Amino acid sequence: MKKHYKLVILGGGAGGISTASRVLSKKKDLKDDVLIIEPGDYHYFQPAWPLVGSGVEKLRSTKKPTEKVIPKGARWLQASVKNADPVKREITADSTVISYEYLIVALGIELNYDAIKGAKEFIGKNSVCTNYLYDFVEYTYESLKNTKTGNILVTKPKSKIKGGVSAENSLFTMDDFVKQHDRHVDIIFRSGRDEIFEVKKYNDSLISQMEEKHIDYMLNEELVEVNGDEKIAVFKNTVNGDIHTVPFEMIVITPPMHGPRVLENSGLLDDEGWVDVDKHTMMHKKYTTVFSLGDASSLPTVKMGAAVRQQLPVLVDNLIERMNDKEPSHKYDGKTACPIATEYGELILAEFGYDRIPSETTFLNQADDKKIFYQFKKNMLPIMYWHAMLKGKG
Ligand SMILES: Cc1cc2nc3c(=O)[nH]c(=O)nc-3n(C[C@H](O)[C@H](O)[C@H](O)COP(=O)(O)OP(=O)(O)OC[C@H]3O[C@@H](n4cnc5c(N)ncnc54)[C@H](O)[C@@H]3O)c2cc1C
Repeated sequence: MKKHYKLVILGGGAGGISTASRVLSKKKDLKDDVLIIEPGDYHYFQPAWPLVGSGVEKLRSTKKPTEKVIPKGARWLQASVKNADPVKREITADSTVISYEYLIVALGIELNYDAIKGAKEFIGKNSVCTNYLYDFVEYTYESLKNTKTGNILVTKPKSKIKGGVSAENSLFTMDDFVKQHDRHVDIIFRSGRDEIFEVKKYNDSLISQMEEKHIDYMLNEELVEVNGDEKIAVFKNTVNGDIHTVPFEMIVITPPMHGPRVLENSGLLDDEGWVDVDKHTMMHKKYTTVFSLGDASSLPTVKMGAAVRQQLPVLVDNLIERMNDKEPSHKYDGKTACPIATEYGELILAEFGYDRIPSETTFLNQADDKKIFYQFKKNMLPIMYWHAMLKGKG
C-alpha cells in the first residue's frame, strides 16, 4: 500500500464516505489517490437506532460492511488514527504513517459513559438502556415491553451530542407505548440543558406536547450516577449543584459526548476540543490544507446526519477550489434538521440554520406533528442515506 495520498479522510462514517464519493465523482483524476482511514468492520445508519429502541425498525437494517460503502476509486486503510501532524502533513494510524496533501477530518463524536458512575457496569442490565450503542439498542425495546409499573426515566446531557433530539424521540414514543398498553407507568425527562430546544417555535411546540401528555420534565439536571441494583438515578443540578435522586423501573441514557481526543496534541482542535474550522467554508482556521465536517467539527449547529448532507457539497466545492489554488468561496449556513417523533406515526420536523430561525423545506407547519414527516423519517431517509448521501449526493 502506498504511503502518500493527495487526499486523506479520517473516519469512514456519514461525513467521510459521502465526501470521498463526491470528491471522486467531481475530480476523476483523484482515482486511487483518496485514502479513507476507518477501523470499523461495519458502517451504521445511526439515525434509525431510536426507531429500533421503540420497536419499529430492525437492528440489522442499520448496518452494512464498511467495504460495501467505500466508493470506487478510494482506498481503505482499516486502522485507528492515533495522531495527526498538520505541519508535516502526516497521519499516524495504528503503526502506519501516511502523508497527505489535503486532509478531511470526519472522526465523529466520542461517547463518554465514564462521566456517569455505574453506566458502563449496568447498561444492558436491570433495564438500564441507551440508544447510542449498536449492541444495546434492542435491549431498549425489550425493557420497554417488560416495564409494567413505575417510572421510565429518559435523560439528556448538557454537552453537545449527536442526534440532538433522540432523547425526546424515546420520551414520546415510550409515552405512546405505555398509553396504548394501558400501563401505570410515569414518563420522566431530565435534561442537563437550560432549554428544551434552541429554536423558539419548536421549543414551544415540544413543551406543549410534554404538558399535554403529562410528562414530568426538568431542566439543568445532569445524570451523574446510575445504580441498576437499587434502580436509582442521581442528578446534579447544573445551576446550584444540588443532588437529586429519581427512582426508575427503566432508564434510557444519552451520554455526554466530546470531540476527537486522539487529535488533542495535533494543533487541530479549538479550546472546546472540536476541529477548529471556519463555520462557513469548513476550512481549518490555521491549516489551509485541512477541512472538517460533521460531528467532530466546530461548526456551531446541531450535530446531525442532516447537517452533514448540507455541509457535503459546500466542503467539496471549497476543497476543489483550494486544490486549484483558489480561496474557498462556498458557504455553509448552518442548516440542520431534527426529526422528533411525538408518538408512533407522528413527527415534528425542525429545520433551521445558524440564525436559529426556522427554515422549513415544505409548505406545511413543521412544528405541528404530521404523519407524512414520520413516514419520511422511517421509510425515505434510510433509502436517501444508503443510495444518495453515501454516494455523494447532497
Ligand atoms: C441514536 C442516534 C440518533 C440519531 N438521530 C439522527 C436523526 O434523526 N437525524 C440525523 O440527521 N442524524 C441523527 N443522528 C446523528 C448522525 O448519525 C450523525 O450526526 C452523523 O453520523 C455524523 O457523521 P460523522 O461522519 O460526523 O460521524 P460518524 O457517522 O459517527 O462517523 C465517524 C467515523 O469515524 C470513525 N472513527 C472514530 N474514531 C476514529 C479513529 N481514531 N480513527 C479512524 N476512524 C475513527 C468511526 O468509526 C466512524 O465510522 C443520530 C445519531 C445517533 C447515535
